[in-house]
Parts: sequence; C-alpha cells; structure tokens
Amino acid sequence: MSVAAVADKTKFASLTFEEKLDRLAEVAVKVGLGLRAGQELIMSAPMEALPLVRRITEYAYKAGALLVTTFYSDDPSVLARFEYASDASFDYAPVWLQDGIAAGFRSGAARLAIAGANPALLAKQDPAKVSRANIAASKAGKPAMELITKHEINWTIVAYATPEWAKLVFPGEQEHIAVAKLWEAIFVASRVAVDDPVQEWREHGARLKKRMDLLNAKRFSALHFKGPGTDLTVGLADDHLWAGGGTTAGNGIYCQPNIPTEECFTTPHKDRVDGTVRASKPLSHQGTLIENIAVRFEGGRIVEATATAGEDVLNRLISTDDGARRLGEVALVPHSSPIAQSGVLFWNTLFDENAASHIALGQAYSTCLIGGEKMDAEQLAALGANASLIHVDWMIGSGEMDVDGIAASGAAEPLMRKGEWV
Ligand code: ZN
Ligand code: ZN
Repeated sequence: MSVAAVADKTKFASLTFEEKLDRLAEVAVKVGLGLRAGQELIMSAPMEALPLVRRITEYAYKAGALLVTTFYSDDPSVLARFEYASDASFDYAPVWLQDGIAAGFRSGAARLAIAGANPALLAKQDPAKVSRANIAASKAGKPAMELITKHEINWTIVAYATPEWAKLVFPGEQEHIAVAKLWEAIFVASRVAVDDPVQEWREHGARLKKRMDLLNAKRFSALHFKGPGTDLTVGLADDHLWAGGGTTAGNGIYCQPNIPTEECFTTPHKDRVDGTVRASKPLSHQGTLIENIAVRFEGGRIVEATATAGEDVLNRLISTDDGARRLGEVALVPHSSPIAQSGVLFWNTLFDENAASHIALGQAYSTCLIGGEKMDAEQLAALGANASLIHVDWMIGSGEMDVDGIAASGAAEPLMRKGEWV
C-alpha cells in the first residue's frame, strides 16, 4: 500500500459509520449503476439493509431517478416457509412477479441488489426442498435473469453487513464486534475506504480493462493451472472474450456489475476441460461449507468429485442437470487482491470469488463470446458455451498457483507465477 493510500485510509477511519455508509451508497449509484436521469430503479434488499436502501434511494433521486421500488426479503419469513409450508410450495415461484420485474427491465429500469442474507440460513433444512425451491425460483426468474446476465440493462450488487452473516464470518466474536469487523472488510474490499472512492474506481476499472485487452489480444486456446493437487487444462470457447470490471450495457449505460470486483473472466469450452483440480478455499453453498473439493475432468465433464465435508451437497449440485458437471466460467484473480489479503472467508460469492482465481460449474455468460448476446442456445453451444440452471463459482487459486496461456500452436506462455500476474 502506498503512503498516499495509508493517509486516505486514516481519513476514512475518522468518518462516522453513517458517513461511511453514505460513501458506499454514492459508489453504488454513481459507479455501480451509472444511473441516468429519468431511469427507473428496481432494488432488492434484506430487511436489515434499510439504512443503506434509504441512502441509495436518496442518491438515485438526486441523480434523477424516475421511481425507486425496493423488494425486501426477510430471513425468518423464509425459514417459516421451510418449516410450515405444504409440499407443493417448494415447486412454486411467483412467475407473475418475475415477469413484472422483467417487463420493468425491458422498459428501461436499472437493477440493484443488496447482498447480506444469512448464507447459512437453510443449512438445517431438507436439501431436497432447498434444491426444488431453487430450481423453481431459477425457472421463474429466467427472463429477468437473462436481461441481467446478457447485460441488456445496467445493474450492480453491493453488500450490507447483517448480524447473522457477520457472526458466521467471525465466529466467537460478540455480535456488535463481528458486525463492525465485517463492515470494515466490506468497505476495504469495496474500495470505498479511500479519500475519493469514485476516482479510485475509475483507476481500478482502467487497470482491469488494460489486463482484459491484453488477454483478448492473445487469443489463447487454453489455460493451464498448476498448483498443489491441481494439474488442469481449461480449453477456452471459440470466439471467447475476456471480461472484467465495468461494462457498457445494452442500454448504452456504463456500469460496474459487482462491487467489489477484481476478476478477469471468460467462457471455457464445455467439452475441452481435462485433469485434476483441488479447491483452495471451502465453498459455501446454501448454508453448507463444502471442504477440500477435489475433482477430475475428462472431456469437459466431471467424472470424479470428492470433498472431506459436504460431499453429498456437492454431488447433488453437480447432478442438477448435464451442464452442472461442466464449466461455464474461468476467472483469474491475483493473490494480492485486497480480498485475498484480508484472509477473510466471506461465505458469499460476491466477495470470495474476488479473492482467488476460480472456475464456475454451470451456465456460461454469453457476453463472454464475440457477438454472443445475439446468439440462440444452439449457436452458443456450437462455440462451446455451457448451459445449466446453476452457476456456482469455486476457488482454485492461491499464492502457489501457476497459470500458463496455451496458444493454438500449443506453445505455453506464463501468465501467473505464485498467484501473481507475470
Ligand atoms: Zn467469477
Ligand atoms: Zn461466476
């Protein structure tokens, strides 16, 4: 960290919590969404995040928002469903609501999600019910989700430190200390703990873009990962595109879809992944911590999967559909990223996927293919893009991981050594 950055951090430390939260709200609206005057905003948030919702709403109206509408979720109400609802409830999702949200997006609304629900909320519930409810929700949400994943609209996600989440991340701490620690980690990771967060994001975005442009110019045909327990070749989809940081959405608005974001990612070829890979961090999935995942791929498909804890959850996950056994994303993140350096396991993909290089099982991003957003399912599959109801990232990178880019000729070029860009 530079001397200037230390000075900025000291200034940030002298702000009240309300002022810090205000910075996050400002970054969410100005950097995350790039909200335009006259644009509608549809927000989703846990009940506890009301203080942040109110600040974001204020910044949105100051930016000229037409109308801000927020949908709240409440963890105890979700639990009540799992404890008392009839069996039929778990195959149901409100298609009417999701269709309405999709219609809102099509008529120009932006989307902001505040993450913060308890990641372990459903840990003790019947895994079959959890998976049925997830499948029903994925199906109902597909039209809205497609507009988001294809970047038709400007959208972003930011986080709010709720007590249940904080206690999971910092077990053994008193609640108010755990919450304070999680907030500190969120502010630093989200790059708002500096003097001018909007400028910091401009510079961070430019650095990510430069990296992405370099990777795109290389046109690698595969990546090779080598580290403890890992010897994996990930073929890249034909016409793959590297993405990362900000993006210009289909509606012409420049946005930062994830706050924080540190990754450069692209679409692997669903049939060209071979070798073994061991996760470098536990994967938190629907409240279960899956530990020491080790997987073997053959022809793109997982043929062997083990874990020392949560193995049944892992096997249920990869049995969701055929695409759940194949890769939909490969991402490079340096070990020096602020999230990796914090050493905190957040139990939340928004943060944990920015702590290490990773791969994701399941659905590929069509925006990571040249012209992909205009292709149908068959055209995408022909280029090697995977399709699935799931998209689950898990971490494979560490300070011991080497990554090579493999050219079409077979020549290898070092990209990362001991977890850092060459
Ligand atoms: Zn990712
Ligand atoms: Zn992902």
